[in-house]
Amino acid sequence: MEGGLEGEERKKRVVVVGGGVAGSLVAKTLQDHANVVLVDSKEYFEIPWASLRSLVEPSFAERSVINHSEYLQNVDIVVSTATNVTESEVVTAQGLVIEYDYLVIATGHVDTGALARSEKLSHYQAGPETRTKKLSQYQAEHQKIKASNTILIVGGGPTGVELAGEIAIDFPDKKVIIVHRGPRLLEFIGHKASRKALDWLTSKKVEVILEQSVNLSSVSDGVYQTSGGETITADCHFDCTGKPMGSSWLRETALMNSLDVRGRLMVDENLRVKGQTNVFGIGDITDLPEIKQGYLAQRHAQVAAKNLKLLMTGGEECKMGVYKPAWPLAIVSLGRNEAVAQFYFVTIIGCIPGMIKSRDLFVGKTRKQLGLKPDLL
Ligand SMILES: Cc1cc2nc3c(=O)[nH]c(=O)nc-3n(C[C@H](O)[C@H](O)[C@H](O)COP(=O)(O)OP(=O)(O)OC[C@H]3O[C@@H](n4cnc5c(N)ncnc54)[C@H](O)[C@@H]3O)c2cc1C
Repeated sequence: MEGGLEGEERKKRVVVVGGGVAGSLVAKTLQDHANVVLVDSKEYFEIPWASLRSLVEPSFAERSVINHSEYLQNVDIVVSTATNVTESEVVTAQGLVIEYDYLVIATGHVDTGALARSEKLSHYQAGPETRTKKLSQYQAEHQKIKASNTILIVGGGPTGVELAGEIAIDFPDKKVIIVHRGPRLLEFIGHKASRKALDWLTSKKVEVILEQSVNLSSVSDGVYQTSGGETITADCHFDCTGKPMGSSWLRETALMNSLDVRGRLMVDENLRVKGQTNVFGIGDITDLPEIKQGYLAQRHAQVAAKNLKLLMTGGEECKMGVYKPAWPLAIVSLGRNEAVAQFYFVTIIGCIPGMIKSRDLFVGKTRKQLGLKPDLL
C-alpha cells in the first residue's frame, strides 16, 4: 500500500496497529487530520467490558461489537494481523506492505474472549474474525451455559469474577465454581475489594477455591483435577486466566529492543516508544507503571493523538503532551445491579458502584466516544 489518494498527498500517513480500545479511539480522533490506516486482526471493535454480559444475554453484543467501518468513515481498514515493522513500513500476514510516516502500536491483548486455552491460541492463529461469527459465538456460549448445571470458571481476576457475577444473577439455579491460583480474588486491586467480592460471591452460593489451579489440557468427561488434588465435576468451563499480550509479533522487528523483559513496549512520558521519534505505544502493551484498564488506554489514545497532531503540523517537540500514570481506580461489576469499586480513599460494594457500571457497562458512553448513537434504534 503505497502513496495515497489524490488530494490526500500532503497529509501524513499514520498507521495504527490494533483496533481495540486505544487503537480504535486514536484512529477515530485522527481520521480527519491524517491519512490513517488501521490494521486489526478482526473487522470489528469489541467493547471488552461488555463481553461477559454477552455470554448470558447474547443480544447485548449487538451494541458492543461494532464494525470498524461504522465509526471510521475516513480510515483505510486492513483486516489482517501485523507480522513485522521496519523503520518505515508495517507488514501484514497477507504480505501487504504499508508505509508510514507515524506509527501507533496498540496491540494490547490478543482477542480471545473467555475460551479454553488451546482454543484461545488456535482461535487467534485462525486469523481475522467477522462480527457475524463473533455474534454466533456468543449464542453458542450462551447455549452452553443454559444447558449446564455446574459451571467451572478458571481464574479469579476481573474476567472470572465478572463472569461468575453475571451467571449467579441471571441463572441463580446453576452451580458456579471459581478456581483461582492466587491467594485472593482480584489481585490487581486492593485486599478490601477482594474480600468484598468474595463475600458477595459466597452469598450468591458461588464456590471459590483459592491457591489452586486446574490443568485444562487433561480434562476428561467433565472431570477436572486441581493442583491441590481435588476433583471437580462440571458440565462446562470458562478459561478466564488472562489473555496473551499482543507483543510477541514485535520480537524480531525494528522495535525488538524497545520491549522490556516482560514483553511490554517501553514508552516515554509523551507515549513515544523509547528510542523512536515517529512511533507511539499506547494501551495495555505499554510498560507504564499503572493497572491495565480501558479508561487509561483511552487517555493514552487522547495524549498520543494530540502529540501526533502537533508533530504532523510541524509543532515543537517540547510542546508535546505528557502522560502521567494514574492511581489504580477500578470497578468490577457483580451482575446487573451491583459492583465492587476501588476509588481513591474508599472501596465500596453494592448498588452505587453498580449504578455507575453494571447496568449498561459503559456501552452507550463508549459508543458515543466513537461518534455512534448509544442505542441501535
Ligand atoms: C472482561 C473484561 C472487563 C474489563 N472491564 C474494564 C472496565 O470496566 N474498565 C476498564 O477501564 N477496563 C476494563 N477492562 C480492561 C480493558 O478492556 C483493557 O485495558 C483495554 O482493552 C486495553 O486496550 P488496548 O487497546 O490496549 O488493547 P485491546 O483492547 O486488547 O486491543 C488490542 C487489539 O489489537 C489487536 N491485535 C493484537 N495483535 C495484533 C496484531 N499483531 N496485528 C493486528 N492486530 C492485533 C487485537 O485483535 C485487538 O483488537 C476489562 C477487560 C476485560 C477483558
